[in-house]
Amino acid sequence: MDIRIGDELMMKKAHPCGGDRFAVLRVGMDFRIRCTKCSREVMLPRKKAEKNIKAVFRGGEKLSLAQLQGTAADGDPRS
Ligand SMILES: [Zn+2]
Repeated sequence: MDIRIGDELMMKKAHPCGGDRFAVLRVGMDFRIRCTKCSREVMLPRKKAEKNIKAVFRGGEKLSLAQLQGTAADGDPRS
């Protein structure tokens, strides 16, 4: 899945604070994301993060999951 730094993720499972939007700070084997509501940072494995994504916002535009898939193959060795 093509997730980039600066993207905003809407997650299926909300943060304990109730926020479901996260800013992407780092991508790679693990994603580092920051809850936009309480500003806490969370690190989680890429696979787990991708499964939890409901929608992605990039530059104010909502991207469909179909748009994000297919661009980068799973298990991409980059990073
Ligand atoms: Zn939070």
